[in-house]
Amino acid sequence: MQFIDLQSQQDRIRRGIDARITAVLDHGAYIMGPEVAELENALAEFCGAKYCISCANGTDALQLALMALAIGEGDAVFVPSFTFAASAEVVPFVGATPVFVDVALDSYTMCPNSLLRAVEHARSIGLRPAAVMPVDLFGRPADYDVLEEIAANHDMVVIADSAQGWGGVYKGRMTGTFGKITTTSFFPAKPLGCYGDGGAIFTDDPDLAAVLDSYRIHGKGAEKYDNVRIGMNSRLDTLQAAILLEKLAIYADEIAQRQRVAARYNAALAGHFTLPKMSNDIQSIWAQYTLRAASADQRSEVMGALKAAGIPSVIYYPKPLNQQTAYRDFPVDPDGLSNSATAASTVFSVPMSPYLAEADQDKVIAKLQMVSARAEE
Ligand SMILES: *Cc1c(COP(=O)(O)O)cnc(C)c1O
Repeated sequence: MQFIDLQSQQDRIRRGIDARITAVLDHGAYIMGPEVAELENALAEFCGAKYCISCANGTDALQLALMALAIGEGDAVFVPSFTFAASAEVVPFVGATPVFVDVALDSYTMCPNSLLRAVEHARSIGLRPAAVMPVDLFGRPADYDVLEEIAANHDMVVIADSAQGWGGVYKGRMTGTFGKITTTSFFPAKPLGCYGDGGAIFTDDPDLAAVLDSYRIHGKGAEKYDNVRIGMNSRLDTLQAAILLEKLAIYADEIAQRQRVAARYNAALAGHFTLPKMSNDIQSIWAQYTLRAASADQRSEVMGALKAAGIPSVIYYPKPLNQQTAYRDFPVDPDGLSNSATAASTVFSVPMSPYLAEADQDKVIAKLQMVSARAEE
């Protein structure tokens, strides 16, 4: 059994992908070819954003967002401590300071109360609260209503890191439309992945869209060889755009299939482990199906039993950012980041994909139920 099954998807759409690749090889516009604009339009339409600017990867997408918003020296950017490193990595790159905020344990997304404490703390040490970066961890949209309100009250912008959550729904709106800017990643293992690196940025602001378009191509101006700002080389390859067009065509169906798999896991595992919590108006895209064990020891036992049965499981993420060598000197919520620490020591993710066969899912479920029953004896 595979942790993420990319082959079944390829079997389903291989003919379309081959035709798309052939078309690119025929026209030869490998950089900024027609598929790039076609994809950007389709992505914007899918989520309901006005503008989509594709780029080289999800990390660049975040960096370009910070650059376009002119965030830099003296600015604080509030980032959850329980996320992938890329969320925080880009902040010092533009000269700003990441300030780590705890997550809520029922959603693994940014905790609003911790954010409020971190904002006060940042001010007290002389930083200007500039941006909040919620992360749609494991595919679940962050608590945008509350986080956007806090951001507005403190004159901060929201940059939504939806690398794992693009296509999720929060109170009737799709991710991609939250905050001033939303970013995503097309890394192959993400729910919408290409066959290499790729990323995209969404905004409703035409001026920001124009600046982002400039920054991703060396800070270009109206004339090709008159650059007006110091930019990056961060374009999405035409070939990757072509592949993504085929994948986007089945993305809504795949999200529905992920939901079906998650619902079966939920029904079978309730009472055995702490389940990912959703509500009627919040729809995850299930980038990961992540459970929490009662303790670090129980997690080791569970993962050992799964491995012995040939079932892969992975810990996302074993160490909160604020405990990692590169990040441990940045400011944090003064009340601590205990939920991040709890999550890091007890979560584990099990196989999840739109194509996970029910028989395989039943194997995962049976093993998990057995280990949990043993713990209760
Ligand atoms: C994958 C990921 C990124 C970075 O995306 P890349 O395309 O790999 O650069 C950023 N943030 C989060 C939360 C991610 O999971």
